Amino acid sequence: MTYALRYAARSDIGLVRSNNQDSAYAGSHLLVVADGMGGHSGGDVASSLAIAHLARLDSETPASDIVASLESSILDANQAILRRAREEPLLAGLGTTVTALLRAEGKFALAHIGDSRAYLRRDGRTTQVTKDHTFVQRLMDEGRLTPEEAERHPQRSVLMRVLGDVDAEPELDLSLRPARPGDRWLLCSDGLSGLVSLSTIDSVLADTEDVGDCADALVQLALKGGGSDNITCIVADVVDLDHLPRGAQPPSSSPEIVGAAARTRNQPTSATGPAAKAAALTRPEPTVPYEDDDFREEEPPRRSLWPAIVAIGLVLTLLAGGLWAGYAWIQTQYYVGEDGTNVVLYQGVPQDIGPVDLSQPVETTRVRLADLSPVTRGQVEATIAAGSREDADLIVDRLAEEAAAGRAAGLGATGGASDAGGASDAGGAG
Ligand code: CA
Repeated sequence: MTYALRYAARSDIGLVRSNNQDSAYAGSHLLVVADGMGGHSGGDVASSLAIAHLARLDSETPASDIVASLESSILDANQAILRRAREEPLLAGLGTTVTALLRAEGKFALAHIGDSRAYLRRDGRTTQVTKDHTFVQRLMDEGRLTPEEAERHPQRSVLMRVLGDVDAEPELDLSLRPARPGDRWLLCSDGLSGLVSLSTIDSVLADTEDVGDCADALVQLALKGGGSDNITCIVADVVDLDHLPRGAQPPSSSPEIVGAAARTRNQPTSATGPAAKAAALTRPEPTVPYEDDDFREEEPPRRSLWPAIVAIGLVLTLLAGGLWAGYAWIQTQYYVGEDGTNVVLYQGVPQDIGPVDLSQPVETTRVRLADLSPVTRGQVEATIAAGSREDADLIVDRLAEEAAAGRAAGLGATGGASDAGGASDAGGAG
């Protein structure tokens, strides 16, 4: 048997985000999706760095070495991201998920960290192969949350493991898997898996033969679902070159790079209709290039939008939608942030327009940053959005639980467990 891959990679900025922080690479031996994060700075840098490091693996590797090669490349990428965070304080806290398949002949090494996913369609059904490294997944593992509850959980995007400036010793899931002709793999960011159900994904993978059409269809479904995040996916078929059916598409030969790591990273959403037009009008162009020594092959990705530019975009959005309606909407929003030592619940959105602050603290909780895991702390520092006060209280409750668990496990710096409960009722705005 002679193995090969037929693949297509797609990335769409979505309808809400101001830039694309996802990156993906698909080549004849390597498939990678990386979903970058870091508040308003660094997510696109982190995912691009990960792709840049891993892309070097896209060649024949002895089958016995693929797991070790993939692991060491990802750890190298992690070091590069850490170096970058040290060199540029603005990028502190940057990180990325990585879900990658490296092929040697009839075997795949699979590496995974974060909440991007790998799905495999084999024998007529699609299964999720990777397990999310999220807080809600942990609650599900402990039987404290049903999958249905997890889908609607306000903290479903809070990551427990990630590559980058939040975790010096990233813990990867690594495995070796057979590549079977007829297998169809889907790698995607949570911008797809969070908005499109497994049964819908399964039917698209089953019914759309061409990998490019299939990837396009999945992106369009996520856009129809609201496009609330960047959407990235790779669809890849394992083919046997010795038994290629007559008329079948040949395997792919040239690599595809999409998202933040690609030259086309600033392209507008492929969505159509009024929501897409509004998104395009209010989304400012990123204009600040920076040098990236680690990725000379591609035009360097640009730094994420400055908060000020985002704020201007927000003002434009407000003007477009009616200033008062916008202001009223802002007042219904909450987010969870911090004041340097404690977790703080804010009303509004984490932006200011010049001297005008669009949020105010409403509650300083007893949850201390020092009691949270580095990953969670990073999330809080980057702020966690909540659509309502109840959602915000739920987030604080979960943080209080994690802080209590952290202290119980001796991870916290100091302090007893007496202030573990009822954190969201605690304290007042200082
Ligand atoms: Ca995402």
